[in-house]
This record gives sequence, C-alpha cells and structure tokens, in this order.
Amino acid sequence: MEKRKFLYDGKAKQLYATDDPELIIMLFKDDASAYNGVKKSSIKNKGILNNKISSLIFQKLEENGIKTHFVKQLDDCNQLCKKTEVIPLEFIVRNVVAGSLARRLDIEEGFVPANPIYEICYKNDDLRDPFINETHARAMNLATEEELKQILRLVPQINEIMIDMFANVGITVVDFKMEFGRDKNGQLLLIDEISPDSARFWDSKTKNRLDKDRFRRDMGKIEEAYREVLERLGER
Ligand code: 5GP
Repeated sequence: MEKRKFLYDGKAKQLYATDDPELIIMLFKDDASAYNGVKKSSIKNKGILNNKISSLIFQKLEENGIKTHFVKQLDDCNQLCKKTEVIPLEFIVRNVVAGSLARRLDIEEGFVPANPIYEICYKNDDLRDPFINETHARAMNLATEEELKQILRLVPQINEIMIDMFANVGITVVDFKMEFGRDKNGQLLLIDEISPDSARFWDSKTKNRLDKDRFRRDMGKIEEAYREVLERLGER
C-alpha cells in the first residue's frame, strides 16, 4: 500500500490518500490539544500508543459485528482505513459522570447514573462542538433519518462491547466519543479513533485516570497511563 497525497492535518492525526481510491492512511501524531485547541503540547509516543490501542478496540468491535472503517494497522503510527464521508456529529456515551457533564449539572465526578447517558454534539471547531439533539441533526440535514436510527442502535451496542472488553482488564469505561461516516456505497461505518484521547478510562479499583484528563489537568505521567491501557489490553 503506497502513501500518496497529503489530505488533512487534524489536531492529533493526519490523513493521506493511497494508491487505492477507496482507502486512506490515518497517521497518529504525538500532538495533544485540549479545551478546543487552547492548551497544546506534545506527548512522547502518544501516536504509537493510540494507534495500537485504537486498532485493538476497532478489531474487537469488528469481531463483534460492528462495521468500522478500520482495515489494518500498517506500522507504529499508521493505519489503513476505508475512505468515508464524515457525518459531522459526535456521539458521546457516559457510564460514569465526569468532565463537562459533572460541570454542567454540578454532579460529583464518579457518580454512576441509573442508565448510560447519550449525547450528540455538532462537529464544528468554530462553534466549539455545541451540544445538539436528534431533531437539530435532522433539521440541519447532518444525517438521514435512517442513519440516525442506525447510529442510535449502534451506540449502546458499541458501549456494551467496550465495557466488557475493558472490565476484563480492570478498567472502567467512564465515557467516550464516537464518530460515523458513510462509505461509497452509503454504508454506515464507525470511523476516527477510540483511544485515551477520546475516552475516559479509570482503573476500576483505584479510580486512577488512564486518559487525556492527565494532560487536561496537568496530572503528569501521561505516557505511562496510555502505555498502561495498551499493556492491559495485552500488547507492548
Ligand atoms: P466531555 O464532554 O466530558 O469533555 O467529554 C466526554 C468524552 O468525550 C471524553 O471521553 C472526551 O475525551 C470525549 N470527547 C468529547 N469531545 C471530544 C472531541 O472533540 N475530541 C476528542 N478526541 N474527544 C472528545
């Protein structure tokens, strides 16, 4: 597979075309940002660790029947993915209250709600990814009725697979963000990444944070935390 034209430079990843028009290469960078780009830095080996962690998660989801853009991990920082048209929505699932939800509703972080909480954000950096609901998404034509229905069925399924995968290695999936795209046949695929950059992972016993909150909150030992997630999932 040949890496061709540079397509896009994101906050934590770059996209490249390949010699196959239906495939792209996603390169995971060490760059880290938080608070909509206000806080920026670089975390040593983050690209390698997130590429490996997200590859393991997407493989597990595929094994469980979830259709994703993931094709294969190519090397330390690159993975091969199916090209899709990105649906400009972010779907967040929360199993434990933390982060913006704790602030918004003044609930203590760590509170376990009676059911998982699902949120939708409009993916738009200039507007700081505002919180919307399904009726906004439909009204703004951001996804079709059928796509939204399908996504709202998939999100709890993906959450169950994630909870199970991480419970087996002593990690609580506090919350995470998902994105979806449509391939050239219009098939809906889970895209982007799921990693400690886009999820909160807490050690189930100690509640130690193994995710980007260590960067957001200047807690230190960021690389170590990401590596701990990868090692618990069974890789080095
Ligand atoms: P919160 O709304 O509490 O800041 O985030 C909830 C969860 O979604 C966290 O796991 C967070 O990492 C993830 N998340 C929300 N928005 C984004 C985003 O724009 N980019 C990334 N990478 N993750 C996000």
